Amino acid sequence: MLTKTKIYLSSPHMGGTERSFVEEAFNTNWIAPLGPNVDGFENDINNYLGGNKHVAALSSGTASIHLALELLNVTRGDEVLCQSFTFSASANPIMYLGATPVFIDSEKETWNMSPELLEIAIKDRIEKYKKPKAIIAVHLYGMPYKAKEINAIAEKYNIPVVEDSAEAFGSYYFNQPCSTLGTLGILSFNGNKIITTSGGGALVAANEDYKKRAIFLSTQARDNAPHYEHSTVGYNYRMSNVLAGIGRGQMQVLDERVNARRKNFEFYKENLGKLEHIEFLEEPNGFYSNRWITCILTPSFEMREKIRLELLKDDIESRPLWKPMHVQPVFKNKLHFSNGTSEDLFDRGLCLPSGSNLTLNELERISNIISKIPNP
Ligand SMILES: *Cc1c(COP(=O)(O)O)cnc(C)c1O
Repeated sequence: MLTKTKIYLSSPHMGGTERSFVEEAFNTNWIAPLGPNVDGFENDINNYLGGNKHVAALSSGTASIHLALELLNVTRGDEVLCQSFTFSASANPIMYLGATPVFIDSEKETWNMSPELLEIAIKDRIEKYKKPKAIIAVHLYGMPYKAKEINAIAEKYNIPVVEDSAEAFGSYYFNQPCSTLGTLGILSFNGNKIITTSGGGALVAANEDYKKRAIFLSTQARDNAPHYEHSTVGYNYRMSNVLAGIGRGQMQVLDERVNARRKNFEFYKENLGKLEHIEFLEEPNGFYSNRWITCILTPSFEMREKIRLELLKDDIESRPLWKPMHVQPVFKNKLHFSNGTSEDLFDRGLCLPSGSNLTLNELERISNIISKIPNP
């Protein structure tokens, strides 16, 4: 009998040259949160993004969001408007700073922050409290949010946007790369993301002062002195030179990874799209998703669970879509502006295995199981 291997939702996929960059770090003893790989990785990312940005490589995407909010002077007593339909790491840094998240639900075309609700929320907070300090918008599953509309509102009220591109490296919005659409962009290189350093992140800024300040804060906020002098609270958030070596190798295959993930989506759509009870999220005109994760929408919670459990029986990992922040126990007493969209997506949606290393056999194994489940 053939032994079947477990299929993961999204597993690391090395390109081959990572090891030589890591070896270089060992050979030159740059085993520190600075060094040639860190500089090289930042340059590689910047070149990918068009060459005119300022990139700081950090220890995680979460740390990058934390520093982004700190750079925007978010502090105790402030409110930050945050997309509700996301991973908790988008919102947690608001709490680290003693500020308060206000959650904004999604629109149906991209599943991301609803511009309409965003403006309603801003008006409400200005009237009842004070102007929110920042907006955190997320390109979920790699699908760009409606940046033109979100930016227009942000500009109208003069509120900066933190662009959570943790899932969207390699995605484009009208030919402009995700992570360059907001006031500050953030990337993640966690093990499940489109490229990985095992753990890592980056802050992307249009302005060099932001990068300098981010590096200063991420390396314990040392003032200029021969001894250790501090006038600000700092963090230990810089990326290690060893891990940046993995990142340098991964940058060489980013485009391949995007193509492979987009091919997964095409495969699923071709094989499952004809089923009446399976729907896919299409790209609106001008939106280019890296298709980090292929998601399906089913008619009901029961159908979603049936598919998930059938896959599990065959050792195939799938997962419900993100549970919205405004219904998470940890944020249950936080203000939210909702329209039911994200709760409905959570009920009916499922993430399918989407790794760039999936084989055709594995994709067929997955879609055969789903195809056999009858539509009641
Ligand atoms: C992964 C992720 C993060 C956090 O990145 P880490 O590198 O894991 O800290 C933030 N936001 C979103 C939407 C993510 O998917």
